[in-house]
Amino acid sequence: MNLAEYRRAARSWLQENAPTDDYPEADGIPRAKEFMAKLYDAGYSGISWPKQWGGQGLTQAEERVFAEEARDFTLPTYVFSIGLGMTGPTIVDRGSDALRERFVRPLLRGEEIWCQLFSEPGAGSDVASLQTRAVRDGDHWIIDGQKVWTSVAHHADWGLLLARTDVDRPKHKGLTMFVVDMHHPGVTVRPLKDMSGRANFNEIFFDAVPIPDEHRVGEVNDGWSVAVTTLLHERLSISAGVGMSGQKENPAALDALRRQVDTADPLVRDELVELHIRSRALELFNERLSQETRAGVFPGARGSAAKLLLAELTQFQADLATRLVGPEATLAGHPLARAISMAPGMALGGGTNEIMRNIIGDRVLGLPPEPRVDKTVPFKDLKVGTQG
Ligand SMILES: Cc1cc2nc3c(=O)[nH]c(=O)nc-3n(C[C@H](O)[C@H](O)[C@H](O)COP(=O)(O)OP(=O)(O)OC[C@H]3O[C@@H](n4cnc5c(N)ncnc54)[C@H](O)[C@@H]3O)c2cc1C
Repeated sequence: MNLAEYRRAARSWLQENAPTDDYPEADGIPRAKEFMAKLYDAGYSGISWPKQWGGQGLTQAEERVFAEEARDFTLPTYVFSIGLGMTGPTIVDRGSDALRERFVRPLLRGEEIWCQLFSEPGAGSDVASLQTRAVRDGDHWIIDGQKVWTSVAHHADWGLLLARTDVDRPKHKGLTMFVVDMHHPGVTVRPLKDMSGRANFNEIFFDAVPIPDEHRVGEVNDGWSVAVTTLLHERLSISAGVGMSGQKENPAALDALRRQVDTADPLVRDELVELHIRSRALELFNERLSQETRAGVFPGARGSAAKLLLAELTQFQADLATRLVGPEATLAGHPLARAISMAPGMALGGGTNEIMRNIIGDRVLGLPPEPRVDKTVPFKDLKVGTQG
């Protein structure tokens, strides 16, 4: 099937199967799972993922065509976005065959929901300072500690957990990545309400939670390199809108704003043109990154530039909406209110704008890196986060 035929088939499948009603998140999970199963069975989940592990084995081109068509619909895929954009690709890239066999297909079919357990109260931008411990006990690892800002964890079945396995090594060299069962006794999930009124992220407590060694992702003490794999996928997936495509109410959508303001006013039109240009520039940049990926060139740290552009675009739109529509745009129930209240979070989640600029300076432009005095010091001798 050529791309034009693929597009037509995808569109007609979406027209027939995308939900047309809006439903609350609380009773939405069973319906979201039902929808993901249908999406998978129709061949539209994991479009470019390897066939061997349950993907469709097609290319980024089909993946993108489907995402473009899905933008005109509101698909209940948000709760799967961490699995699809971050933890799933990490298992595919870095997991053992047993982990790929066990986890990839159920993730793509929406049978299991995933979360990403990296940030802690004392370790956000500097996530390598984290203090959640994993201590070996025979065939298992015992987990104790706390995570925070964990998106969708209150619905999650599995989490990708970065934990400290050796305090005698420097901070980046004593970390290991695991898959943790979020339903295991000893895992406590407490939702945190944000200013959009939703409780979409959580704080998590681990109290002597055992993880079998087969659920380790990568080598012991090589968790940082696995985390970098996750973060690269995270930035690319956020900027490309994985899991968010299929959201008509996407915060970056121009249409919602256009419907609210007087487009006959030339000053307003100027502002909307500026928004359109920024949106289009990001779209083209994402298109370029995906073309390069198809040609076998991994975008690497340039994903941070795409993520930064999206965060700036989202904030620009939120500011513009508040300016053009007026303060009522921020009131609960207004069609733009959610996008406005969620905009600042885009400049934090997946790495802050400042951290994206540091990465771009260091890894893309080749500028001298930030001075780092803690690179070779054993973790136990550092005064970091909430330690000591
Ligand atoms: C919507 C949302 C969803 C999230 N989901 C998840 C999730 O699912 N899983 C997860 O693990 N985490 C998640 N997070 C957490 C997110 O990764 C962290 O908030 C982020 O990394 C920043 O960490 P912090 O909040 O501790 O801020 P800090 O690291 O304390 O930063 C505070 C300020 O200092 C600046 N700063 C820090 N270091 C530097 C530096 N070296 N140079 C310049 N400026 C610096 C930062 O830019 C920021 O402005 C989420 C956050 C949000 C907002």
